[in-house]
Amino acid sequence: MTPQRQLAQPLSSPADLAAGQLLTSETAERMAEEFASAARLAARSIAAATGPTTGPRPEALRARLDAVDLRTPLGSTAAALEEATELYLRDAVYFHHPRYAAHLNCPVALPAIAAEALVTTVNTSMDTWDQSAGATLIEQRLIDWAAGLAGLGPEADGVFTSGGTASNLQAMLLARNSAVAGATGSLPERLAGLRIYASADSHFSISTSASLLGLGAEAVVAIECDELHRMDVSALRHALEKDRAAGLRAMAIVATAGTTDFGSIDPLGAIGSLAAEHGAWFHVDAAYGCGLLASARHRGMLTGIEAADSVTVDFHKSFFQPIGSSAILVRNRAALALVSHHAEYLNPAAEAGRTPNQVDKSLATTRRFDALKLWVTLRALGTEAIGQMFDSVMDLAAAAASMVHAHPELELAAEVQLSTVVFRYVPPGPEPATDTATEPLANAIRTALYDSGAAMVAATTIDGVRHLKLTLLNPNTTPGDIAGILDAVVSHGRAICQMRTGMAAA
Ligand SMILES: *Cc1c(COP(=O)(O)O)cnc(C)c1O
Repeated sequence: MTPQRQLAQPLSSPADLAAGQLLTSETAERMAEEFASAARLAARSIAAATGPTTGPRPEALRARLDAVDLRTPLGSTAAALEEATELYLRDAVYFHHPRYAAHLNCPVALPAIAAEALVTTVNTSMDTWDQSAGATLIEQRLIDWAAGLAGLGPEADGVFTSGGTASNLQAMLLARNSAVAGATGSLPERLAGLRIYASADSHFSISTSASLLGLGAEAVVAIECDELHRMDVSALRHALEKDRAAGLRAMAIVATAGTTDFGSIDPLGAIGSLAAEHGAWFHVDAAYGCGLLASARHRGMLTGIEAADSVTVDFHKSFFQPIGSSAILVRNRAALALVSHHAEYLNPAAEAGRTPNQVDKSLATTRRFDALKLWVTLRALGTEAIGQMFDSVMDLAAAAASMVHAHPELELAAEVQLSTVVFRYVPPGPEPATDTATEPLANAIRTALYDSGAAMVAATTIDGVRHLKLTLLNPNTTPGDIAGILDAVVSHGRAICQMRTGMAAA
């Protein structure tokens, strides 16, 4: 800024006022106070929540939001936070609540929340050493630790990502580039005929990745599952052989360690062997099941993961971390170079290796220091405590399954494997016509629960039939809470069936 322009500015213009709101050595103490008051607002809302939701409808919240005039600022953080309390906190969906049992969201560990204060205020960016310094080493240590838990060996490496979707995309990119490395011809020619094998129950991000990578969604071969929703290995072998005979090439085989609906773990050892036999990249999507890595009791369920070329882990699912906290791990560090790009302004090739630059391994450039949350959690609580929390949600799910099993009007869809329980309400009496109604019974029950605010459950479709699903990731949820949720499911189920029967008779 030239001196003339400085002089031309009136004193305490809106810009000057705003500049006083930026973090400086002078405003640092004020920052801490404002942070603390925001934390207090959050604490009050968390403590006051009588259910996981107030059951708001989009129309109701939209009306309140539409009344906000974005051209008229409120003038202070306090006022804006107070407004945000009304617009957001009051009707937020609370994952800490013991009767939140819908999606793969966990209550977060206190040390991780405290660490957020450091991550956000220092605002480190993980791309290069000269923007991150020690943060890069902390992230690296955690990658080594996680790869160690998975048993990926001395050459392992990896990088934090925003979530399992991003980790899976990067894994598929590495698999694709490794499959076409050294091949000749145009890119479409090199990509033609590449196939990815994943179970019919695998996460949709594998298909999305195939599309983004120019393979087309049809490049993903869905392998059928057994009755526990685990990949059928003989079906995989058959598909691999048939495709090989047709001149197609196995680019990757994806095993899911903890499917989103059933928590099923594909037979990792057998799939790894087939991948080796067919020269395919072996990826394990452990976005959900990674919590087993920390569990002394259940670690054996992931035997075979150590042969993976890459592994997706979501710390924001089963390590009780705030969103986002995920990583892709690879067995061979050299593989990560398949995505390296050297930009003159950032990490010039001529200076490669002088300092550790995480951007060399990442699909992101500017990137949050999310690793610190996990680091502080581990240093405060230790790996074992995380594993035990995951063990306890598995025990809770087993108890929930017994309750479902014991109830004459509830029907379990499959045996529990990790911490999800898929089931449905089946009214007593002759074969009910309820599911032929315009809205499946499971959806109607789920909506009734949401509207009441008493509990939140998810829904999914199994063989064309809509089911309810409990996803349990809260070690503080008790069997009594589960009994309460199931009671509510049954009473809403009965009421809805009665109403429908009455309407049909009228
Ligand atoms: C949740 C999940 C993902 C996606 O992870 P995000 O963190 O939501 O992006 C991928 N795979 C599986 C098996 C999952 O459960």
